[in-house]
Amino acid sequence: MGRLGSLKRRLRRFWPGRAGPRPVILMYHRVADLPYDPWQLAVTPAHFEAQLEEIRRTRTPLDLATFVARLAAGTLPRDAVALSFDDGYVDNLRAAEPRLAAAGIPATLFLTTSAVGRPEPFWWDELAHLILDRTDGADLDLTVAAEPCRLRFAEPEPPDRDRRGWRAWEAARTRREAGYQALWRLIRDAPPSERERAMTVLRTALGGAGPARADERAMTAEEVRGMARRGTFAIGGHTVSHPALPTLAPAAQRREIADGKLAAEALAGRPVEGFAYPYGAMDESARRAVAESGFAWACSTVGTAVSGRRFERYALPRIAAPDGDGGALARALAAG
Ligand SMILES: [Zn+2]
Repeated sequence: MGRLGSLKRRLRRFWPGRAGPRPVILMYHRVADLPYDPWQLAVTPAHFEAQLEEIRRTRTPLDLATFVARLAAGTLPRDAVALSFDDGYVDNLRAAEPRLAAAGIPATLFLTTSAVGRPEPFWWDELAHLILDRTDGADLDLTVAAEPCRLRFAEPEPPDRDRRGWRAWEAARTRREAGYQALWRLIRDAPPSERERAMTVLRTALGGAGPARADERAMTAEEVRGMARRGTFAIGGHTVSHPALPTLAPAAQRREIADGKLAAEALAGRPVEGFAYPYGAMDESARRAVAESGFAWACSTVGTAVSGRRFERYALPRIAAPDGDGGALARALAAG
């Protein structure tokens, strides 16, 4: 997952600059119909199909490796689009792959390798279930990586009954939402072992999140292998355990990035050349570690179109696909 606001993108709406399409890398996470989606990770299957139709009708879809090679060579068509997916949710296999294959559009999946084959949901989904998906009270003090955090909510406040429109980067409307935001930040920035410990404490104290939805897990190794074999998806790196890389020392960054590459290659059965920074979070040493681990290029979550003049091989911008129809996608592509 990952998202950074883009002032530039908002400005461009009022100040469009040179007319005509500009090359874009799209970022997806899930193709699923969710009751609510605090990080806007999902595009519904119907919207995804409409977006693929829009891309086929108006754009030149390229696989990301070709997209980057032609960008580097200065031969990228202005209407080029490449699709990418982060994390490795099983709905990429069930809902995205058949639609991509039918449309003849390739995509890249940036895979969090330690999640492969694990039955439990990604921590951010589980945290949302533990805190946001319920209306009962909680009274809990815990520490995450030595940072104190207090969860205290009693009776549900009215928005706790329905948060379908709420996004987690917006202001919290209830103590429950504020507690969720504070914990999300602490857990994102905690080392993987602390993250596991905090989630165990929460699971025990809050009485479990109930059974995960069937489509919420990551793919199994067998599913990733099949996907790589069929070839609609190319596999890319997204670290082993999805840390915020700038919170790690350089040696730990290198382990996450290089070990993730080896694990992804073992699953893909071929070299893996692209990388995406978890949460879009990067610093200079992470960028260097990506290059030194043998990746040829890497994607950020800076939400703009790609520029041949400001070509940064290890920080390629990506626009988050909106959960909307072909027209919504066209507007997102134009706003980049
Ligand atoms: Zn991610």
